[in-house]
Amino acid sequence: SAPAPGCLPVLGRDVRAPLVTGGDAEYAALDYAASAPALQRVWDDVAAYAPYYGSVHRGAGYLSQLSTELFESSRATVAGFLGCRPDDQVVFTRSTTDSLNLLAAALPPGTEVYVFETEHHAALLPWQHGGSAAGRVTVLPAPGSPGQAVAALDSALAARVGDGPALVCVTGASNVTGELWPVRELTAAAHRHGARLVLDAAQLAPHHPVDVADLGVDWVAFSGHKLYAPFGAGVLAGRADWLRAAPPYLAGGGASRRVLRAAGGGVDVEWQTTAARHEAGSPNVIGAYAIASACRALTEAGFDALVAREQTLVARVLAGLAELPGVRVLSLFGADAARVGVVSFVVDGWSSPHLAAALSAEHGIGVRDGLFCAHPLVRALLGDAGGSAESAACGGAAGDGERPLNAVRVSFGAGTPDEHVDRFLAAL
Ligand code: PMP
Repeated sequence: SAPAPGCLPVLGRDVRAPLVTGGDAEYAALDYAASAPALQRVWDDVAAYAPYYGSVHRGAGYLSQLSTELFESSRATVAGFLGCRPDDQVVFTRSTTDSLNLLAAALPPGTEVYVFETEHHAALLPWQHGGSAAGRVTVLPAPGSPGQAVAALDSALAARVGDGPALVCVTGASNVTGELWPVRELTAAAHRHGARLVLDAAQLAPHHPVDVADLGVDWVAFSGHKLYAPFGAGVLAGRADWLRAAPPYLAGGGASRRVLRAAGGGVDVEWQTTAARHEAGSPNVIGAYAIASACRALTEAGFDALVAREQTLVARVLAGLAELPGVRVLSLFGADAARVGVVSFVVDGWSSPHLAAALSAEHGIGVRDGLFCAHPLVRALLGDAGGSAESAACGGAAGDGERPLNAVRVSFGAGTPDEHVDRFLAAL
């Protein structure tokens, strides 16, 4: 059947759900926030290139030249997709997690970091992890509105002692509530106080145009597998200066321009100053090419159409959930908050893991349950009503020996047909 307007053909539409009791229903993939089904167009591009791939930057042979050309042109495609400034660098990484860990390792030593407790762990944890060059990490409490978020950041930065380097890390769209964060205003607040900002766009980029230059963010990170490409590649893009000044993320071939035995023992190394500095080893050229293919497909489909289509699904889900007794949709910023196609909820008296398991086994619907790698956020959202005695008895995941803390998350995007959403609401 013809895809709905604004809808791209995705592989997920052809997948049957073998676990459905006595049924052969089309599998309804409603867990795009974890990993979105790859676009058919991306698979086609990858399949067309796969027989020809070779190692990039490493040979005069035809396959190596072709791969180098595709790898570097993929970098340019991503830079265009993100609206990067001319002197920004686009580094291919493994994922958003990898991108943010890379940035944490590349900070000028002692950089103060500011982050809200509401972040995904990939954005919350790297700054105080082993490889991080960060100094003090300030964790701000969950704000109640976008305006509160800006005010809280503003006053935290105003209270800074000294004028050393500082970095703010913030999400563009929450992987739990789907709510949009005021990125432009937070960036302005950061810059007012001499801090820089990295945008975690893992959930934003698949649903919304991201324009680095227009927003003013200093870096942006996202993952290919949430942007309708396969696993294995991600992106860190933005200001070159800190990346160029930092030690390479990994030491090895490709990152090094010249290596000599040192007179006094050991080796002297001259490192690359381009993105290759942080891409040691044979790069994942297929992963980069797949991301570029997804960027092209989304650009051609047009975000206006994609956003309009997705917002009808968001409205359909929220209206459907509002009609069901005992369902509470999780929100930090209130019912009117703008959000992408990510909705989490709890149902009075029901265990979220059991609901998710039943949706899968009985209805062929894939959703996510749990704490979504954002424990402090789920704690803030469910603190008072996170679990009833019944859900504990039903085996809800325990919140560190406290009340059970978990929710169900339904998420969707390009290629999601109305039928999947309707089946989900009917099943619930
Ligand atoms: N940030 C957000 C907001 C996310 O939703 C995720 C993935 N759930 C990540 C970061 C981490 O992405 P990845 O697992 O691809 O590294």
